[in-house]
Amino acid sequence: MDHYDVIIVGAGPAGSTLARSLEDAGKNVLVIDKASFPRDKTCAGWVTPAVMESLDINPANYANGRTLQPIRRFRIGMMGQPAVENDHHGIVSYGIRRCEFDAFLLERVRSPKQLATPVKSIVRNNGHWVVNNQWQAPLLIGAGGHFCPVARQLGTGPGKHETVVAAKEVEFEMTPEQADACEARGDTPELWFCRDLKGYAWVFRKGNFLNIGLGREDNHRLTDHLEAFVDDMKHDGRIPADLPGRFKGHAYLLYAHADRPLVDDGVLLIGDAAGLAYTQSGEGIRPAIESALMAAEVILNATDFSAAALQRYGERIAERFGNRASEQAAGWELPEWLKQPVASTLMRSHWFTRKVVTEKWFLHQDVPTLKAVG
Ligand SMILES: Cc1cc2nc3c(=O)[nH]c(=O)nc-3n(C[C@H](O)[C@H](O)[C@H](O)COP(=O)(O)OP(=O)(O)OC[C@H]3O[C@@H](n4cnc5c(N)ncnc54)[C@H](O)[C@@H]3O)c2cc1C
Repeated sequence: MDHYDVIIVGAGPAGSTLARSLEDAGKNVLVIDKASFPRDKTCAGWVTPAVMESLDINPANYANGRTLQPIRRFRIGMMGQPAVENDHHGIVSYGIRRCEFDAFLLERVRSPKQLATPVKSIVRNNGHWVVNNQWQAPLLIGAGGHFCPVARQLGTGPGKHETVVAAKEVEFEMTPEQADACEARGDTPELWFCRDLKGYAWVFRKGNFLNIGLGREDNHRLTDHLEAFVDDMKHDGRIPADLPGRFKGHAYLLYAHADRPLVDDGVLLIGDAAGLAYTQSGEGIRPAIESALMAAEVILNATDFSAAALQRYGERIAERFGNRASEQAAGWELPEWLKQPVASTLMRSHWFTRKVVTEKWFLHQDVPTLKAVG
C-alpha cells in the first residue's frame, strides 16, 4: 500500500491546479485519472483572461505549437432573428482545445500520476481513504467532473434530483474547402440564445478548428433544438454544409442550481464534481481553477481534515460565487423582466448584449482574478 498526504481523483483543470499548488508547498500528492492524456473533454474551449492569469500562463508561450484563438468581438442573437456584433477593441478571451490545454496543465504537475486508471473502489479505514486497494491518504479530493466517484461517495451525483445542463457539441478540423465555406470568424464567437431562454448554442472557430454546440438546462428534445439550429446555420452559410462526426453529449451543474455538499470528513470536492459552473454562461473552467486554488489554501492552513476544519473551503466558495439558495432565479431561466417579448428586443440591443450578456454574464469582467497564495 502506497501512502500519500492527498489523493486527487481527476486530472482535469481542477485536479491539476490543486496538485500543482499542493506539491509546491511540499505535499506528497497522487493524481489518478481514468483517461490517458492527452484526452479530449466535451467543451467549447473558451477561457477568460482571468484563467490564464490564475494559472500563470503566458499566452505567447502557450500558443507555441498549440491552438490559442484570441477573441475580440462577439456576435450575439436570439434564434430566428438577426444577430448583433460588438467589438471589444482588444483581446477579451481566448479559444483553446481541451485536448491540448488539459495535457499542458497536467505536464506541469511533478507529482506521481496514475493515468488510464479508473477509480473503482474507495474505502474509509481508520481515518484514511484507501483507493483501488492500492493507495492510501488521509485526504481525498473529488476532481472527477460531473460523474466523479468521490462525489458519489458523499451520497450525491447524477440521478439525485439535480437540474443538469445537458449539452451536445462537435469539434473538428476544417478542410480548406470547409474553411472557405465557413463565414464564422475566429476572433468573433457566435452565441445564439434559445427563444425560451433555457439555453444557448454557439459557433466557435479556433484557427482551423470549428466547435459547434448547444446546451440547455432542460434536456427535453435537446437533439431537436440542436438539429434546428445547425440547419439554420448551414442555410445562412455560417458553418459548412458537410459536418463530420457525431455530436457528443455531456452534462454538468450550474452553481445556483446545484446542491452537492462540498466537504465531509477527510474529503473535499472541486470543479464540476462540486457543481460550480457559472450560472448564466455555463463557464466551468474558471470556477474549477479558482475552487482548486481556494481548496489548496484551506488544506495548507488546516490543522486537521475533519469536516469542521474543511468547512472553511465551503465558506470561501460562498464568498466568491454567492449563496446558492439565494440565487435560484438567476439561472438560464432568466428573471421575469427578461422574459419574452422584452428578451427579443434586448437581444437586438448593442448596449444590452455588450454590457450585460458579454461583459457581465460571460466575461465576468467585474470579478477580480484569483491568484495562488504564497
Ligand atoms: C458542451 C460543453 C461545453 C462547455 N464549454 C465550456 C467553455 O467554453 N468554457 C468553460 O469554461 N467551460 C465550459 N464547459 C464546462 C467545462 O468543460 C467544465 O466545467 C470543466 O471541464 C470542469 O473541469 P474539472 O477539472 O472539474 O472536470 P473535468 O474537466 O471533467 O475533468 C475530470 C477528470 O476526471 C476524470 N474521471 C472521471 N471519473 C473518473 C474515475 N471514475 N476515475 C478516475 N478518473 C475519473 C476524467 O477522466 C477527467 O479527466 C463546457 C461543458 C460542456 C459539457
